[in-house]
Amino acid sequence: MNESKLRRQDRIGRRRLLAGAGAALMLAAVDGCTVGERGLKRTPAAAPLQLAPLRAGTDRITQITVCTRPFRAQGPRLDVEHIGQKIIVHNYGHGGSGWSLSWGSSGIAVAKAMATDEREFAVIGCGALGLTSALLLQRAGARVTIYAKELPPNVRSSLATGLWTPDSRICLEEHATADFKQLWANMARRSFQTYQTLLGLPANPVEFIDSYVVSEDPNNFRRGGGSSDTRPRFAELQHELIADLIPRSEDFGPGGHPFGNRYLRRNTLMMFNISAYARLLMTDFLTSGGKIEIAEFHAPADFARLREKVLINATGYGSRALFDDESIIPVRGQLARTIPEPDINYGLFHKGVSFVPRRDGLVFQMVGEDDYYGFGDATAVPDRNEEELAVNTIVGLFKSA
Ligand SMILES: Cc1cc2nc3c(=O)[nH]c(=O)nc-3n(C[C@H](O)[C@H](O)[C@H](O)COP(=O)(O)OP(=O)(O)OC[C@H]3O[C@@H](n4cnc5c(N)ncnc54)[C@H](O)[C@@H]3O)c2cc1C
Repeated sequence: MNESKLRRQDRIGRRRLLAGAGAALMLAAVDGCTVGERGLKRTPAAAPLQLAPLRAGTDRITQITVCTRPFRAQGPRLDVEHIGQKIIVHNYGHGGSGWSLSWGSSGIAVAKAMATDEREFAVIGCGALGLTSALLLQRAGARVTIYAKELPPNVRSSLATGLWTPDSRICLEEHATADFKQLWANMARRSFQTYQTLLGLPANPVEFIDSYVVSEDPNNFRRGGGSSDTRPRFAELQHELIADLIPRSEDFGPGGHPFGNRYLRRNTLMMFNISAYARLLMTDFLTSGGKIEIAEFHAPADFARLREKVLINATGYGSRALFDDESIIPVRGQLARTIPEPDINYGLFHKGVSFVPRRDGLVFQMVGEDDYYGFGDATAVPDRNEEELAVNTIVGLFKSA
């Protein structure tokens, strides 16, 4: 049998293995926690898992941030609109997956922009989608100016958890048509592959980590969401469409880890150290001749003053006001950052709290029972009590072991 056939069979075999375990399996990606497939059981002889203890505590919180995910029930907007003399290629509305899908989504927007035969473009917005659009335009040989009200680290993208969660609040299940699934899978795969080229760089903009779901119940590693919930379901696409990109999880029983009588499931996740990563994107753009102008637009008519004829609109949640697009629903998310701990290289998920070991500050986040947590909430005032509870829930694991 030739090598490519063997590889294909291996992929198919793996997909069957994943699919065969059925709906009870867990692949609920949340911002900050991807809960993986049913784990492989570790053999009792295996050495117990060692995890360096966390020093974090509420006294080490350096920052609490709040931000709104730009969720659209029908998924991101990627169509082309003509307004006056301008051609606008939209690239916004990526919910909780903006970083994860950025390269793939921006690749689609850039192909549409380049199809106009113009070679000088404006990108509106300097978050995850604006920066990747601008870089891909440059790589396609174009001249680019980014116009934005704010730049990293003062954009919403800089307040994300920092995990590769490509189907997190990306659309509602009822809108996940066959065409959408195809589009999404292409975006996810292209992004994933691009991220592989950013591993192993100075300051680790992108790296893989192990993350542990910690449960009291060996049969329940799932995050909330009872079957009696009648609200429209969020699409869960990873499991069905890109299972071959997801490493298998592994289970640890009592005695096999530092958390007493609990049960652990280990997943391997891709993590973005957003400070370093955003800086890398900005530097790449500027050193390739890109220009940035600080500018605020109040209505699409304001684009008339720009010299470029073709624009990529990557204003994220800002599109709600700018384009009067009420299909964008805010989904509030709050993070606490604590002082970095370089020896902590694992994530945790326990009782609705996600912990991510970012090098630019450990990230604690209450993610609630399900993806409706924060839905429709655009309030930006930090809730210190919620963050203290989040930090104490994770730190408490070490104390109660
Ligand atoms: C708590 C939380 C956790 C998250 N975790 C993850 C995660 O782990 N992984 C992941 O993939 N995604 C995550 N997300 C989602 C992700 O952060 C977003 O999908 C992404 O940041 C959207 O990027 P963007 O470039 O579209 O928008 P933004 O980052 O909001 O950038 C918009 C840009 O447009 C500019 N702009 C807006 N309006 C105007 C205007 N009128 N005039 C001029 N400029 C304007 C802004 O100044 C900014 O430069 C998370 C989101 C939240 C809230």
